[in-house]
Amino acid sequence: METQDIRIGFKKLFGNEKYIHFVLTLYEAFPLRKRLFFWQEQLLKDFTNKFDLEPIEIEQVYEIFNHCPVHNYELKDDNVLIVDGNEISSKVSYEREKELFPMANINAPRDLERFNYPKDVNVVYCEKCRELKRV
Ligand SMILES: [Zn+2]
Repeated sequence: METQDIRIGFKKLFGNEKYIHFVLTLYEAFPLRKRLFFWQEQLLKDFTNKFDLEPIEIEQVYEIFNHCPVHNYELKDDNVLIVDGNEISSKVSYEREKELFPMANINAPRDLERFNYPKDVNVVYCEKCRELKRV
């Protein structure tokens, strides 16, 4: 199965909402997690069982699900500044942002008051999400 067919099949089998949640959870932390959550593994297993496919390993997961789940743009790599999350004020609520442009990732807000971080971090982003965030 081609990666695009896997994405489409996944969406069809589990529904749009679950698909979005699955992909956004993959990319909610940078650096990327090296392990999936149990429920994510379970969905993958259900999927591969249903279509009689080989199990999907985590390395492949990032290759397969490399599109913005909202806009379907291919995700790109970037290196962004880590900023103080306590100082960020947004015009849009966190929930709206997650709905409209969840993968803008123009910077990486962290709790700098409590923890130490490097200056920057590698992320992936969706061009359409960034476009919408800038408006
Ligand atoms: Zn997007």
